[in-house]
Formats: sequence, structure tokens, C-alpha cells
Amino acid sequence: MSCLICAGHAATIECSEGWEKRNCPRCGLYRISQALVLTLMEQGQIFDTEKMRRWLDTQRITVPVPSIEVHEALLVE
Ligand SMILES: [Zn+2]
Repeated sequence: MSCLICAGHAATIECSEGWEKRNCPRCGLYRISQALVLTLMEQGQIFDTEKMRRWLDTQRITVPVPSIEVHEALLVE
């Protein structure tokens, strides 16, 4: 599977229902809600890769695996 943030090659990791979990060599380990993935696909939107990586780094100060939900998506404008 590919990374949902940068579209690079990433490992898919088993996780709870309603979530996708990826381990990307460049974006790191993260979870993303399936609802968000579907919304992005429907609207043809993509993540702002650099902004999301910075957001993930900030989250990792407090949580080991950041979870990206709809209201946290930083998209290409
Ligand atoms: Zn990535």
C-alpha cells in the first residue's frame, strides 16, 4: 500500500476498524480515519505533505502514533 500523505511506498499495519495505519519511511507511523480518506477521494483533495509531516512531528511529542481526523487534515490549497 502507499502512504496516504506522500503517496510513497509505506507498510500497512493492522489497526482498529474505521482507521488506516501506515508506516512510511518519510512520514513515519500514523493513523488516519477512513472517513477522512473517503472524503479526500470524493473531493479529489490531497494532503499538503510538508505541513502534515510537521503536524505529525508535533503530535509525536505527546503521543506515539498520531491520529489524523477530518478536522486535522492540512490540504493543498
Ligand atoms: Zn509518506
